Amino acid sequence: MQRSFRHKKKFGQNFLTDPALLDKIARLCPPGPAALEIGAGAGALTRALANRFPLVAALEIDRDLAPLLEANLAGCDHVHLAFADARKLDFDAYMADLGASQYAIVANLPYYITTPLLMQAVEENQGAEDMIFMVQKEVADRLAAQPGSKSYGAVTVAVQYRCQVDLALQVGRKAFTPPPEVDSTVVRLKRRPPEIPTDPTAFRQTVRAAFSQRRKTLRNSLKATSLAADHLDRALAACAIDPTRRAETLSVNEFAQLSKALYPPEK
Ligand code: SAM
Repeated sequence: MQRSFRHKKKFGQNFLTDPALLDKIARLCPPGPAALEIGAGAGALTRALANRFPLVAALEIDRDLAPLLEANLAGCDHVHLAFADARKLDFDAYMADLGASQYAIVANLPYYITTPLLMQAVEENQGAEDMIFMVQKEVADRLAAQPGSKSYGAVTVAVQYRCQVDLALQVGRKAFTPPPEVDSTVVRLKRRPPEIPTDPTAFRQTVRAAFSQRRKTLRNSLKATSLAADHLDRALAACAIDPTRRAETLSVNEFAQLSKALYPPEK
């Protein structure tokens, strides 16, 4: 059925077809009330999800896929299909409208939008308890990186602060039609409460500023926050963090402590 469809490169339309692989990906989600699939394509993964979830919301940007999707999802009355750009949606509000306050996100997307969408899901959508994302190997390495490694950066800290990260599955390029230029990894993110709660805006500002100039010392990078130098020094000292360290050596909890010291809650 897919042969009649012209795949669009601009939308990253590399589809999965192997039923065993699709089932494996769907099974990475623990059972739950609902799943939100972002980028439904021809509906193959949507169908696998429909076998596991009482409610599936499937988003697709390309209306040309409507005939294929409608045919492939025939009889799946619990699948709610919508044509929209996922970047413009508030996932929690969208799923709440469908009656689901907690849900899993499953996304196999063009790689240029995967990281921003993953960050949107992790930082802004508390209802997304489990997130399954197909990503490039480099992005997977970044998400799972440990302090001190080259891959450890602002995205690592933001995600590991809120989620347990698991590199669940390697997927070779030949599994896709048409095959993309890179191999992929399916990552599974499980939301859990942060060990050290912080104000989310303060945490984000701290992490972004710290990594804004990777080659500089933490103290110099943090000057980007426009906080007074003596306040920076006091905050670093209060957390017992050597100001000459570089951002990539700080643990996630050290970032949380530092953000609280830099932006203490108003009394
Ligand atoms: N889920 C299917 C699969 O696994 O075979 C299709 C995956 S394909 C890599 C990505 C799909 O995401 C395409 O169908 C594409 O049209 C859609 N897409 C791209 N950008 C999107 C966006 N901003 N919002 C929603 N869907 C998007």
